[in-house]
Amino acid sequence: MGPLWDDVAVSTLLNETTTTSNGFVEPAASPLLLLGQGRDLASERGVECTGALPAPSDPDLVERARAARAALGGRAFVLGHHYQRDEVIDFADVTGDSFKLAREAAARPEAEFVIFCGVHFMAESADILTSDAQQVVLPDLAAGCSMADMAAIGQVEEAWATLSDVGITGDTVPVTYMNSSAAIKAFTGRHGGTVCTSSNAQVALRWAFDQVGGVDGTGKVLFLPDQHLGRNTAVQQLGLSLDDCVVYDPRKPMGGLTEAQLRDARMILWRGHCSVHGRFSERNVTEIRAKAPGVNVLVHPECKHEVVTAADMVGSTEYIIRALDAAEPGSTWAIGTELNLVRRLAKAHPDKQVHYLDSTVCFCSTMNRIDLPHLVWAMESLADGRTVNRIVVDPDDAHWARVALDQMLALPGL
Ligand code: SF4
Repeated sequence: MGPLWDDVAVSTLLNETTTTSNGFVEPAASPLLLLGQGRDLASERGVECTGALPAPSDPDLVERARAARAALGGRAFVLGHHYQRDEVIDFADVTGDSFKLAREAAARPEAEFVIFCGVHFMAESADILTSDAQQVVLPDLAAGCSMADMAAIGQVEEAWATLSDVGITGDTVPVTYMNSSAAIKAFTGRHGGTVCTSSNAQVALRWAFDQVGGVDGTGKVLFLPDQHLGRNTAVQQLGLSLDDCVVYDPRKPMGGLTEAQLRDARMILWRGHCSVHGRFSERNVTEIRAKAPGVNVLVHPECKHEVVTAADMVGSTEYIIRALDAAEPGSTWAIGTELNLVRRLAKAHPDKQVHYLDSTVCFCSTMNRIDLPHLVWAMESLADGRTVNRIVVDPDDAHWARVALDQMLALPGL
């Protein structure tokens, strides 16, 4: 059996639809409608694209990209997240998940420009981990992250004040997922917490609980902003129960919880989620098992708990890539993560059957804002001596976010 989607259908849909933050696929008037010129989406970052973008139909676009890349040479280092489009990945010097890319950027002090083909919070992390002499550029400032947007610093400060009123902040350690703004990372640094990735969430949570009496004690973790990663890690890897977890809704007084619920909880999960991974359902797993007997279902831990429970394997994007590399020829896989990555995995493993877990197309719409016209525009501007879309984190936030990131780097296994 071949993949459940085919390249023609997928590329057609990419040009004719867009996925909203609610996960609905909507028709787009033009594939370039949301290129971020003059729109304010009230999201993680400001949105303005100064200067003229190349036309996507420009037949010389690839050649222009090659020429601009060659003109920049070693002065620039281009990072490409696994969820980026192929046309962008083709120009990446290195690909990886958000954490790997931030470390790669930090390991290139000779690069004057770090061009980050990913989303805003990733570029912020790269700015925090690189020197002041290096400039981090995000080709489209509209490339935010709906999950990161679900935890605004004002909301988190308010929630912390609520926990303080209940008298539990002394017994609570904040942990934020890498997929959060620099301000949220700084919040965790200021309050003795850490950052985690989907690869090291178990180690980070164990460390956090150890600060307040251990996993078997009574201390708590405030986990931001992805409730699913927090819950899946706490229940599947630390042995806590679903009853130990409560969801804090920042739009409700006291997070929608009672004082007793807050006091009794071990994991206080922020009400955030990924609009891409949140789409996968238990039904997707049931259906693929019926269609492809013997299939290995492999999902990202940002998926809902019932999906993770129904799957055969769970892991970060890097884990998913390694699992496919190590898989037996002829084996069958259904992957629950962003579609650009799954398409590339399918192409890279023609000897294996690689299916997309969802029955409908699901790209990360914000990741897809970075396209070849924006990359060409950013590179040509830099080659002409104009820095565009530079990401600069507020120095105080950068300091405290660095404290939290350094705490993560000190965890075993990194
Ligand atoms: S895939 Fe999800 S977590 Fe990643 S950038 Fe897109 S919305 Fe954010």
